[in-house]
Amino acid sequence: MPQQPLQFTHIPHPTPTPAAERQALLDRGGFGTAFTDHMVTIEWSEGQGWHKAELRKREPFLLDPAAAVLHYAQEIFEGLKAYRGADDAITLFRPDQNAQRFNESAVRMAMPTLPEAVFLEAVEALVKADKDWIPAGNGSLYLRPFMFASEAFLGVRPSHHYTFCVIASPVGDYFKGGAKPVTVWVSQEYSRAAKGGTGAAKCGGNYAASLVAQAQAYEQGCDQVVFLDCAEHQWVEELGGMNIFFVMDDGRLVTTPLSGTILPGITRKSLLALAEEKGIVIEERPYSFAEWQADAQSGKLKEVFACGTAAVVAAVGRVKFADGEFQIADGETGPLTLRLREELTGLQRGKQADTRGWVRRVA
Ligand SMILES: *Cc1c(COP(=O)(O)O)cnc(C)c1O
Repeated sequence: MPQQPLQFTHIPHPTPTPAAERQALLDRGGFGTAFTDHMVTIEWSEGQGWHKAELRKREPFLLDPAAAVLHYAQEIFEGLKAYRGADDAITLFRPDQNAQRFNESAVRMAMPTLPEAVFLEAVEALVKADKDWIPAGNGSLYLRPFMFASEAFLGVRPSHHYTFCVIASPVGDYFKGGAKPVTVWVSQEYSRAAKGGTGAAKCGGNYAASLVAQAQAYEQGCDQVVFLDCAEHQWVEELGGMNIFFVMDDGRLVTTPLSGTILPGITRKSLLALAEEKGIVIEERPYSFAEWQADAQSGKLKEVFACGTAAVVAAVGRVKFADGEFQIADGETGPLTLRLREELTGLQRGKQADTRGWVRRVA
């Protein structure tokens, strides 16, 4: 069925947050605890396709207790940021990649795809409506597009009704320690994703499956969990919500290949492109936990970093696991980690010229 052109209806918030209150929320920093005034919603139903595109006041959903998402977790999401540049330009970083990945996730979860232009229009409409919520300085406005099965139906099959929504949250640093190196916990007990499973889809279920391991990481005083493959518990996959890179003493950059069990990060892809332009040798190959320990021990491993939209580029300084722990080089942020982080944030914040068409100006 061809999609009818969508007309967005704008219903401004009748009583938006007063400026002083908004500023207090922006000053508080943190991640994902404050929300802007508006949201975008678009409905999908079988026979009608996408309809009822609205930018309106952020408010709770009225959900039937039988809504399929509450029972079978048919849900996907995206995460991207809006930045306020030095000249007050408001930009997004590679939002087309999020639109594309959203649809790849949708296909895997037997959900309808959303035309990329509609995804972008929804995100941009929200950013424009709530642009006063974009912090200056190092902060940004985290955007969370998501879609869930909203049909009231307890049979097991793809839903006949979905709700797409975008909300926004002003954010500061992802980790409490700011840009300090993080300590990671390698889970040898739990896995995140299996071959043929949903590891490459950005779906809530993957996160639900990661929470016990993440809780163990916190108990061990670590910031994040690293997952190994599910078959052999040997190969490094990724963190709960970030991809991982290893820098060797001969300059090579090693990272897990996209084999269907890890999330194809846009930060990962962007860093690989930047590294390649610098002539850095890249190896997308399986890297085992045994190799990781041996390379850290011998001094061959110089740097480890994790990356994703929320935390950008975070150095890994220490690694803990059930039988011990080890440090990466001197435990500090290494030079390539620093260089890639500076370059990427420079591009995102308009301090570096965008020669690749990655930055999209919204206002
Ligand atoms: C979102 C996500 C990432 C990072 O993807 P980016 O596009 O770089 O933000 C990595 N791993 C998982 C499991 C994720 O959900």
